[in-house]
Amino acid sequence: MNPKVRVSRHFLRCYMNFKKVNTQSVLSALSNVRRRHFSDCSQAAGQPFSIYIHWPYCESKCTYCNFNKYINPASPPNERMLSAMKRELAFYMRHPKFGLQARKLHSIYFGGGTPTLAPVSTIQSIIDEIDKTMGGLHSDIEITIEGNPTSSEISKLSSLHTIGVNRLSLGIQSLRDEDLPILGRDHNTKDAIHALESAKRIFGDKGFTFDMIFGRPGNSLDDWQKELKQALSIAGDHMSIYQLTLERGTPLFKDVMAGKLAPIAGQEELADMYEHVIEATAQHGLFHYEVSNYARTTAAMSRHNFSYWRGMDYIGIGPGAHGRLTQLNGERLRTFGEFHPERWMAQCEDEGDGIRKMIPMEHRQIPEELVLFGLRTKLGIPRSRFSTMTGGKKLEDALRGDVIKSYVEHGLLIDEGKTENNVQTSAPEFVPADCVSEFYSGTIRPTEKGLAVIDTIIPNILKPTDS
Ligand code: SF4
Repeated sequence: MNPKVRVSRHFLRCYMNFKKVNTQSVLSALSNVRRRHFSDCSQAAGQPFSIYIHWPYCESKCTYCNFNKYINPASPPNERMLSAMKRELAFYMRHPKFGLQARKLHSIYFGGGTPTLAPVSTIQSIIDEIDKTMGGLHSDIEITIEGNPTSSEISKLSSLHTIGVNRLSLGIQSLRDEDLPILGRDHNTKDAIHALESAKRIFGDKGFTFDMIFGRPGNSLDDWQKELKQALSIAGDHMSIYQLTLERGTPLFKDVMAGKLAPIAGQEELADMYEHVIEATAQHGLFHYEVSNYARTTAAMSRHNFSYWRGMDYIGIGPGAHGRLTQLNGERLRTFGEFHPERWMAQCEDEGDGIRKMIPMEHRQIPEELVLFGLRTKLGIPRSRFSTMTGGKKLEDALRGDVIKSYVEHGLLIDEGKTENNVQTSAPEFVPADCVSEFYSGTIRPTEKGLAVIDTIIPNILKPTDS
């Protein structure tokens, strides 16, 4: 992967899927927009923001993974990492050009790597630091941590919940013992089920989610149907279900290319697997709200991931973390952390932050990202949101009206204008509570059919220039 885009595994997979399928088309479409104009996003500077914290260590390396991760050292530098994270947090939170202490904190996400390998006291200390800097956290803030179903991590769940973590995202990936080693996972199905039961008991149905991957080497439709049925029988109110992405350079990619593993199903069978996911999750009461995400209730949807999908600001703390941050002067920045933990910590110690580079976003990039990520959700791209984040532009300014019209006629997109409904009571289930008024400002959004082929839709609808 390109670690510059690492934020969370959910966001990453969305972004990587887009990059893989569409980069060429979008670059070509935008090739004549090379002027370095920066957007005035002064309105965005007062909006809520999120915090992503990257813990870079894992017990082992999964064969399909190209995240910015490193094997957990025998004596992990927990104290040093914590101190570096606090310094970088202080840099962002206290810098006058960002004004973050006056803004609302939307969510906190501990990703990795494997943040549940960090001592609970370290996680607590980071939450306390954020709490102190912000002058208190609001009572309904979402605090998520990613983890794996190993016994040492599961033994920490209760303590993590006690210190305020209220959402757990477990990497389960498969419930077949013969497939887990192919993915390089160091747990078995029994561990996975035990972990899910513990997660449910401690975090409740609303507070835990887990990832599953289909389309693995040798994974047939029949096997996947049985596996998903079992997964759904344990699920709470949320699941993330991905099709395997073979990332170039990973051990899994090399083994598949070398013919050392059973082949991956063909496109038709993969499409059947995806369709089965849609049907089976719906039968189980989970609605589809983003390409790879399913929830039983609006409250169970990942609020943090909506930060990315809605184009909100977020700061990235830790090695290789990146962010999007609007300065008080209205200029929006992309930030990129130094990748290697050792170099990142050393830079924090020397300079007070581990930032590798900080680049103002070009005029075209903000609308482009709003379209890319917004259309991956059923919420789509709310018109008012688009306007707020682009200094008053209209959504139509960025999109090709003729192409949108055609997709609407083919039942792939819905183009809705402003609605005067009673916005408090009638929003569809896939609209998060804090997006209801945006939804009724009018949206362009995918239908279920459109979501299945969104990667082919997105590059076609962007205007070649954003003028
Ligand atoms: S645990 Fe997660 S971050 Fe670590 S190697 Fe596996 S997939 Fe990658």
